[in-house]
Amino acid sequence: PVVLGIESSCDETGAGLVRDGVLLGQAVASSMDEHARYGGVVPEIAARAHVHAMAPVVREALDRAGLTLRDVGAVAVTTGPGLSGALQVGVAAAKGYAFSLGVPLYGVHHLAGHVAAAGLAGGPLPNPCVVLIVSGGHTSLLLVRDLARDPIVHLGDTLDDAAGECFDKTARILGLPYPGGPAIDRAARDGDPGAVRLPRPLTGPGDAPYAFSFSGLKTAAARWVEGHRAAGVEPRVPDAAASLQEAIADTLTRKAVRACTDHGIRTLVVVGGVAANSRIRALTEQRCAAAGITLRVPPLPLCTDNGAMVAAIGDLLARAGAEPAPLDVSIDPSAPLEYAALTPRPRAR
Ligand code: ATP
Ligand code: MG
Ligand code: FE
Repeated sequence: PVVLGIESSCDETGAGLVRDGVLLGQAVASSMDEHARYGGVVPEIAARAHVHAMAPVVREALDRAGLTLRDVGAVAVTTGPGLSGALQVGVAAAKGYAFSLGVPLYGVHHLAGHVAAAGLAGGPLPNPCVVLIVSGGHTSLLLVRDLARDPIVHLGDTLDDAAGECFDKTARILGLPYPGGPAIDRAARDGDPGAVRLPRPLTGPGDAPYAFSFSGLKTAAARWVEGHRAAGVEPRVPDAAASLQEAIADTLTRKAVRACTDHGIRTLVVVGGVAANSRIRALTEQRCAAAGITLRVPPLPLCTDNGAMVAAIGDLLARAGAEPAPLDVSIDPSAPLEYAALTPRPRAR
């Protein structure tokens, strides 16, 4: 069937259409500009913006795919994790579409959507593969088998801040605009990545090999800025940006490649909004090539939040014969990533 995917967990309203692993069309609206002056996403504003954008975004995705609502054979929606008010809007809309069309509804995990997005470019993901998920709220190394059926194994997660959070918070310290990730990526182009000595957290011999910690990096960058200001010297922002980006890219890619070689896995998949970062992309390419690992990174529009990634998971679940969610399915704002489908849990195999 054609699967309509709906995403509304944060500040992007996304709709996408996928059939048999092929992306037919998608559209995204973002309320990012409305949050910029607050320096972060304001939940109430995000929820309101979803109410405003939802139906037009679905319509636009259908138009781009050259389809009408009658062609939709299943609906998938992010039921968590995310902002509760924002999630409610997408789930309510998805129930409306599924109920009125008389088609199955799938409630999916947002991060599994980020993983599935990589399967929309370059064919289905190999089983097994190692996935590095780096986004605004999450940083994890996963062992993924059959996304529609098998539990997702966490090799390691961040112990504190997510990589995206580290970009965003450090950007703020450096006086760069929100969102910080893209701003640091741009500023770093004119900077020297070796200018500021920053740690590579948890990369010592006794450290957990696949766990991450990013809060210390942000603090180190803050101290560097304060030190300059105290000495009456204006800190060179591009140098700080390039050095921070290098520290994050070095740490992420080192651990990701190690997870592959330790487990004898030939494919690394990097997904999530931070996978848009130019240095992370370049360094993973280089290190994967050196280690003989195939790298899969989705194209930029599939890295940040979108509806196509949700449709991609729905498509996998529908083709695997997964049990749909009931129409009274609820949201789960802090859902752990265990299975791609949030409700109901797949039966044990
Ligand atoms: P989650 O998926 O964990 O719920 P989210 O949906 O907010 O969080 P995404 O939309 O996947 O996260 O990614 C947003 C994050 O990606 C932000 O932290 C943003 O700064 C970061 N980001 C986007 N582009 C870049 C870039 N070029 N370099 C670094 N970070 C980036
Ligand atoms: Mg966003
Ligand atoms: Fe996301």
